[in-house]
Amino acid sequence: MSKYLSDRFSGLKEYIPGEQPRDRSYIKLNTNESPYPPSPSVLESVAEEADLLNLYSDPDCTALTEKFASLYGVKPSNVVFGNGSDEILNFCFMAFCDKNKGMAFPSISYGFYSVFAELYGIDYTAIELDDDFCIDINDYMNLDKNIVIANPNAPTGIALSLDSIEAIVKSNINNVVIIDEAYVDYGADSAVSLIDKYDNLIVVGTFSKSRSLAGARLGFAFANEELIRDLHKIRYSTNPYNINRLTLKAGESAIDENDYYMDNCKEIIATREKTAEELKSLGFSVLPSKTNFLFAKYSGDLGGKELYLKLKDEGILVRHFDKERINDYLRITIGTPEQMETFIQKLSKIINQ
Ligand code: PMP
Repeated sequence: MSKYLSDRFSGLKEYIPGEQPRDRSYIKLNTNESPYPPSPSVLESVAEEADLLNLYSDPDCTALTEKFASLYGVKPSNVVFGNGSDEILNFCFMAFCDKNKGMAFPSISYGFYSVFAELYGIDYTAIELDDDFCIDINDYMNLDKNIVIANPNAPTGIALSLDSIEAIVKSNINNVVIIDEAYVDYGADSAVSLIDKYDNLIVVGTFSKSRSLAGARLGFAFANEELIRDLHKIRYSTNPYNINRLTLKAGESAIDENDYYMDNCKEIIATREKTAEELKSLGFSVLPSKTNFLFAKYSGDLGGKELYLKLKDEGILVRHFDKERINDYLRITIGTPEQMETFIQKLSKIINQ
């Protein structure tokens, strides 16, 4: 830390993303990316657009917004895009929280929520999950803070029903409720259908997982027009060209080929269910996942960290969190059927050694 860093940030612990190693090639099951490549038209449209990189991108993301709004049956004025959904979440903390208005979220959830709260010096409450790692919606009724909930939650993979989400939104009319749906395309219900009914609801999503564009950085939010205007205000006050030309085109082409991506999601769901059964037969307890990953704990005498390290030695990267209650769990991204077969083979070898 230099002597110039503002005192505001001296105690800030930054978010640490999952490893993106370069030392050897791994089967990468650690950052919940899609194992399937972008569709061919994404690659073509990006290559074509590269000729225009001397020009700024459209700050209103007009074509992308229109296509996306029509896919989801909402108005363009109900949509805003971000440089990944991380940027959208950042905008939400900036726009709706301050010293009088904090944020509440589950204690075991996406690690960035507490980082944003600390970045902005916002008071936050981390609410415990129940014994089964589920969110108890009674803990979220009539709070005095804004709320952010990942649905399905990460890293547990467990989803809340739409009725439960609605109950939370309804009981918090003085708070903004942000539902982070990064993993919603793998079997959970989206709350997007509720945005016209509740003016305090923001539904956040990403092209990073189900639409194979993690490297392009494209996230979005759906909400009523007023909330979206607030988010645009923050966006125009920080980086109006937050979505670059190549990403705009990649996003448009991905929407045109929605069926390809939704078929990939079905494939991931099938692979997830098969892998969960295999893990159970190796002695793992596996939380019920509606995502593209599994959260699993071994019942034998190898801890989470040991298993993570042994798998890494075998060329397989999974995610381990050194955190109370979950340090014996591994978060395993679902790859292709072939990758998961290799993963299970290596894992059984480690366990049987
Ligand atoms: N929310 C959750 C719950 C996530 O797991 C992630 C991925 N790390 C994100 C948001 C951010 O995704 P991105 O910025 O790639 O859209």
